[in-house]
Amino acid sequence: MNLDLDTPLSCLPRIGRRYFKKFHKLGLDTVRDLIYYFPYRYDDFSNIVPIAKLGPSKAATIQGKILDIKNIRTFRKRMILTEAIVQDKTGGVKAIWFNQPYLAKILTKNQQVSLSGKLSIGRGKHYLSNPSYEIIKFDKFLTHTAGLIPVYPETAGITSRLIRYALKLCLPAINKVEEFLPADITKVQNLLPLKTALYEIHFPRAKSLAEKARYRLTFDELFLIQLSVIRQKRALQKQFAKSIPFDKTLIQSFVKSLPFKLTNGQKIASWDILQDISKSIPMNRLLNGDVGSGKTVVAAIAALETAKNGLQAAIMAPTEILAQQHFKEFTKLFEKFDIKIGLLTGSKKTFSKDTDIVIGTHALIQKGVVFRDLALVVIDEQHRFGVEQRAALQNQIKEIPDKTPAAIPHFLTLTATPIPRTLALTIYGDLDISLLKEMPKGRQKIITEIVAPTNRQQAYEFLRDQIKKGRQAFVICPLIEESEKLEVKSVTQEHEKLSKEIFPDLKIAMLHGRMKPKEKEKIMADFSNKKTDILVSTSVVEVGIDMPNATVMMIEGADRFGLAQLHQFRGRVGRGEHQSYCFLLTESSAKNTSARLRAILKCENGFELAEKDLKIRGPGELYGIKQSGLPDLAMANLGNLPLVEQTRKEANNLLNKDPELKFHPLLHKKLTQLHKTVHLE
Ligand code: ADP
Ligand code: MG
Repeated sequence: MNLDLDTPLSCLPRIGRRYFKKFHKLGLDTVRDLIYYFPYRYDDFSNIVPIAKLGPSKAATIQGKILDIKNIRTFRKRMILTEAIVQDKTGGVKAIWFNQPYLAKILTKNQQVSLSGKLSIGRGKHYLSNPSYEIIKFDKFLTHTAGLIPVYPETAGITSRLIRYALKLCLPAINKVEEFLPADITKVQNLLPLKTALYEIHFPRAKSLAEKARYRLTFDELFLIQLSVIRQKRALQKQFAKSIPFDKTLIQSFVKSLPFKLTNGQKIASWDILQDISKSIPMNRLLNGDVGSGKTVVAAIAALETAKNGLQAAIMAPTEILAQQHFKEFTKLFEKFDIKIGLLTGSKKTFSKDTDIVIGTHALIQKGVVFRDLALVVIDEQHRFGVEQRAALQNQIKEIPDKTPAAIPHFLTLTATPIPRTLALTIYGDLDISLLKEMPKGRQKIITEIVAPTNRQQAYEFLRDQIKKGRQAFVICPLIEESEKLEVKSVTQEHEKLSKEIFPDLKIAMLHGRMKPKEKEKIMADFSNKKTDILVSTSVVEVGIDMPNATVMMIEGADRFGLAQLHQFRGRVGRGEHQSYCFLLTESSAKNTSARLRAILKCENGFELAEKDLKIRGPGELYGIKQSGLPDLAMANLGNLPLVEQTRKEANNLLNKDPELKFHPLLHKKLTQLHKTVHLE
């Protein structure tokens, strides 16, 4: 059969019809998809050993004749074992498979087979346990039991074995793959040709070739991401924004009115932002600084400049609570500056066309909200502002009749999630970044401890003691990603346990994402007014909330959170004058976990913690980009700075020469394909 890259997998002879639905579940629909489904490791079955020389525990391949094969039922464990005796010139060995009775039909007496696996010892006898198997036919190469055997990510119903089989059928189609990288790049970067790379990543002739193939294909993925983000950046720079001139006197008088001196980082970031917004090119900047580093005041400076130029600024917070807190803070900051500040959330609306600065939640970008002259948008504690939301805002602006070309607002995103350099250059590559590296002076150290299950009681006693002294505490419940419902349940249970068994005499409140905004508001207000002692919460409390009287942060199931996230929780305490504490409770005894958690005891720098997490857990866990559809190789290499820099350099060079990719139509097509599957919002 003549397979094309676009041939649906359902057309694959013998297996297509039976498995195409399962392939679809893996995201594989066409021959091309399968060719681009890469193994994550290889089993090395390259040494075929004589049976007499088989040693325990090391993987090996033997080849011989089946003398006997039968199914045996074990009574105690209710399992079916398939036992075979295989013999070569040097001796015989038993092979055992568990719960695969059909094997006794596939493999038959007197067949020549190739078996790969490890030798196990049971009841004093040696046997090959669950070996990979293959019937030797003289006209065929071995796919599963010789050389480097690719192992693929599997799901129920699709085994690596099946993928290898299907791939063998698809291999001829690789010849139809077209090289899309410009020849000078493959040459300078010393990359394998694409076709070779695609063959070798699946069925490598040598380990070194497998590695070169993976490098080439990783390069491709990162290079395409670079092209994509750089083009996005350049496209935005071609758009038009309102210029907001920098009024030095105004800013100086505002800075003087503050009860503190700006840190160096705050000064530099403010300067960069004021420079950006004074241009008629839209700003797209990320302000990245640890919890408590003082991002709000930097945003306030930009908003003030905007308002005083007769334009509007919108500040968007992720939660209602935060929006209210910002509203209060902005009102206080601008007390003497005659600025109309509005609030717009699901439940409150004090916003009209003459509002200068509006603070709100996602309600800000809902239909029906019309701005007079929106020129600056600040998004707090969000990794990035999606293209869709930007479009929504743009539509709201276009509703205003105006003769000039539709201006889009300047964008400033604030985040406490530390963005490692490699990510700043890839998935955040369309943004300019300002860093607040230092904390305002006089911040206290928070004492952090890992609490083993045996010391839980002690931690509770400590907490009680703090409350006796007039302080308050947070208890964070374990992260439950699968379902909000389960998370609510866990918070409810924890609340009940604490208020009935542990602290029946204390006032304990709870907070979770399913509560109505009004309820949440009341709970936060009560906590803030010291009407409650302990606040049990899901991770909703994570972002930005300021509670200076709270001195204990107790995190249940600490191992489930990322280090940077734990660091953010920790930043919720220690905001007042009192010594504060962070307890990390973990039931997990996994070695990796405790090593990971220990990092946070020593380190107070969110950026360092993020780099560590990136190394240990990969970017998916850290930045929620698992769902972004980012290709696997790129994902696995987002921490690879040299490669990221190389691909960025090449992408920039190429776009300087050919901005529209007019002379690289194949590359352009590849990029369009990428955009269909990757969503970097
Ligand atoms: P975050 O970066 O986490 O959003 P905030 O902007 O909420 O931090 O600032 C945390 C606290 O630090 C606020 O109470 C703010 O008033 C205060 N603050 C900000 N900048 C400074 C500074 N330069 N010196 C002292 N305190 C500051
Ligand atoms: Mg903040």
